[in-house]
Amino acid sequence: SSASGAAIRQQFLDFYAARGHRILESASLVPEDPTVLLTIAGMLPFKPIFLGQRAAEFDRATTSQKCIRTNDIENVGRTARHHTFFEMLGNFSFGDYFKEQAISWAWELSTEVFKLPPEQLVVSVFREDDEAFAIWRDRIGVPPHRILRMDEVDNFWTSGPTGPCGPCSEIYYDFHPERGDEAIDLEDDSRFIEFYNLVFMQYNRDAEGNLSPLQAQNIDTGLGLERMAQILQQVPNNYETDLIFPIIETAARIAGIDYAQADEIARVSLKVIGDHLRAVVHMITDGITAANVGRGYILRRLIRRVVRHGRLLGIERPFTAEVAETAIALSESAYPAVRTRETAIKNELAREEEQFLKTLARGEKLLAEILARNPQQVSGEAAFELYDTYGFPLELTQEIADESGVSVDVESFEAEMEKQRQRSKDAHETIDLTVQGSLDELAERLQSTEFMGYSQAITESQVE
Ligand code: ATP
Ligand code: MG
Ligand code: MG
Ligand code: MG
Repeated sequence: SSASGAAIRQQFLDFYAARGHRILESASLVPEDPTVLLTIAGMLPFKPIFLGQRAAEFDRATTSQKCIRTNDIENVGRTARHHTFFEMLGNFSFGDYFKEQAISWAWELSTEVFKLPPEQLVVSVFREDDEAFAIWRDRIGVPPHRILRMDEVDNFWTSGPTGPCGPCSEIYYDFHPERGDEAIDLEDDSRFIEFYNLVFMQYNRDAEGNLSPLQAQNIDTGLGLERMAQILQQVPNNYETDLIFPIIETAARIAGIDYAQADEIARVSLKVIGDHLRAVVHMITDGITAANVGRGYILRRLIRRVVRHGRLLGIERPFTAEVAETAIALSESAYPAVRTRETAIKNELAREEEQFLKTLARGEKLLAEILARNPQQVSGEAAFELYDTYGFPLELTQEIADESGVSVDVESFEAEMEKQRQRSKDAHETIDLTVQGSLDELAERLQSTEFMGYSQAITESQVE
């Protein structure tokens, strides 16, 4: 259909190509930028240009960039709009066009190419950006009450304490205009979804924090492909779009369940599998292999989460390579390298999965011994040891114990969990991978994140 993910990607690139932008291939998920582990935004490959460290060979570019944001890992399957892996469509101006042009093209693309009804769009601007406010109101004709002024947190971009920075403006789609314009709350994700973010790089910040106008003003934008697909395909979340749903269907078939009939917990597991396998396929394609540190550690965590969620769905046999095949098939026309790397992908998955399943099997054996020692109840300490050392989820312990009519002391298990959380608070902090996040700290932390048994991988992958 005209609203397929592939069509949306092409329409975006064609729109900007027709307006003088060079279409560039997606850069690798492994960035050249040493301060960040994975490519987290479409602008990352252009960062040296924006920072004035490299001259641009052209004034305008447009891309569909493969991105991974591990800071959104806990959102996966729980919000309708967050992934680890996603594609960010972007148009970029290197000292060429600026605010008014960027805004009017973004609007034209949204309303004329994607045909979103203007009355279902809401925009945000940085609190102090009167210029952007006036463009939206006077040039575009957005009613003033649908232009929201927001704080630095969401609407001011910086690449560090000093250097280029500037206000942002976002476009949101309103799923429920009938709820009225009295109390527009952009945080309400049952009603609004952010899909397009425009960054106006117009200042330089010096060491004293003073802002001065930049000589060359830049435009950096990002539009989430999966989010636009959700809107145009009129499905309740990104996962049910043609970009991801076939992966979920493959996993559901292997689990012998039907997504449409599945309860919320099973759906979250299916979404995690759908999301993570896409990420894994592209990471391995770009040369990452499982390891105990850095990018390889992220890959390992993602694979283990897939296996864990597979087991929660009742899948006992190796299945990840089979589901990966669907992810490869979905991506190969836009990213032919995923097919070229098919064998590497499937081998890596099979190896990691087998290793992890062995660990789980050891845990099962230990549980049998625990049950033999104390057939009354599995203590919280024992359940925690299974979880912490053997990667054994509580539900699994409960399930097996239950088969022998034995209960698990969940309360003291939770107490042990809490102690663990306190002990390793730092190691488990969500890693901020955003552009303005503390990237040095991130690189440092991941270098020092030696793999500590299964505790870390599993703790972070817990299913609430
Ligand atoms: P949100 O507020 O919804 O978390 P964001 O403000 O963090 O999004 P940006 O950093 O502005 O996102 O990225 C630009 C665009 O990329 C977003 O407007 C959105 O369309 C898309 N995007 C960002 N993060 C994700 C994600 N985790 N999964 C899917 N799409 C994303
Ligand atoms: Mg975000
Ligand atoms: Mg946002
Ligand atoms: Mg944003």
